[in-house]
Amino acid sequence: MSRYWSAVVHGLTPYVPGEQPQIANLVKLNTNEHPYGPSPLALAAMRAAADEGLRLYPDPNAAALKAALAQRHGLLPEQVFVGNGSDEVLAHAFMALLKHERPLWLPDISYSFYPVYCRLYGLSACTIALRPDFSLAPDDYLPHPGGERAGAIIFANPNAPTGRLLALDGVERIVAGNPDAVVLVDEAYIDFGGQSAAELVPKYPNLLVVQTFSKSRALAGLRVGYALGQAPLIEALERVKNSFNSYPLGRLALAGALASVADEAHFGANCQRVIDTRAWLNDQLEALGFEVLPSAANFVFARHPAHRGADLAAALRQRAVLVRHFAAPRIDAFLRITVGTPEQCAALVAALTEVVERVAVQPT
Ligand SMILES: *Cc1c(COP(=O)(O)O)cnc(C)c1O
Repeated sequence: MSRYWSAVVHGLTPYVPGEQPQIANLVKLNTNEHPYGPSPLALAAMRAAADEGLRLYPDPNAAALKAALAQRHGLLPEQVFVGNGSDEVLAHAFMALLKHERPLWLPDISYSFYPVYCRLYGLSACTIALRPDFSLAPDDYLPHPGGERAGAIIFANPNAPTGRLLALDGVERIVAGNPDAVVLVDEAYIDFGGQSAAELVPKYPNLLVVQTFSKSRALAGLRVGYALGQAPLIEALERVKNSFNSYPLGRLALAGALASVADEAHFGANCQRVIDTRAWLNDQLEALGFEVLPSAANFVFARHPAHRGADLAAALRQRAVLVRHFAAPRIDAFLRITVGTPEQCAALVAALTEVVERVAVQPT
């Protein structure tokens, strides 16, 4: 605290990202990074872009990247917005599209950055409880018969940190049922087993789909995210972006992202490897007595009936295995475990086996 702080800063509750410690031989399964590297074509493109040209500003409109993303999703370039990681895209969307007189509706268990943006931009929010099985019920997001309706709606699909997927017809039900409200679908994990709502963009003027290069394209360090929506929604994001920073993506990021989009083969194969390892990890955890929520993401969310989540996370940390634990209502017992390589997942399972069985044989 400081008397030099503005009133806004006093009122902030910043997001706390998963740690990035510098520990040797760490099995790092806490921030949902991709276990395999980015496309070699993306790395080559970035090396090639690291030249004298860096003295020049990048293209403020990222035209080449927008065109490539538009083509990949069967949309038009004016239906694409790009930003410095999807967190920045989301931040602009909160200000440009989600802040209205009526409150923003969002699930009680969701990406923990959303409440942070609500505070930053002064949005009122109304949380809607996920069902007891942690599924999202589309009917809970339709205008109430009494007339109450959302100012806007946001949810992650697959959800974070549960990993549960809402099928595309459920997403469409929410979008179609709220023609007066923007519905933002955060698809950070959609490439690990879901069907994107991007195909619904031409049909619905109130739908904004947000994706990222950080998870499925293994480029978390590059900071590239994007939004897909009809031109008026994209224009709103551009207005905020151009009132904030004209050049959110540098030349290296633009070059790397463009080449990544072009390498569909590398992308598809490495997502499939993660999906295969997820199935194996799921079985191993269940064999250890864990309840594992069905996941369509590159992580699993699991709890053990006989162990506290915080204790398990701490015991794993002692064994140089990092996972994420959220000390939050309803999910305190769970661990969120990123799907790593088969070797990393085997190390996690070995450590968990030790912890679960060691504690189990202790006299009571
Ligand atoms: C990781 C994540 C993001 C942020 O991704 P960046 O593009 O790295 O900023 C956004 N939403 C959800 C749900 C995420 O898990």
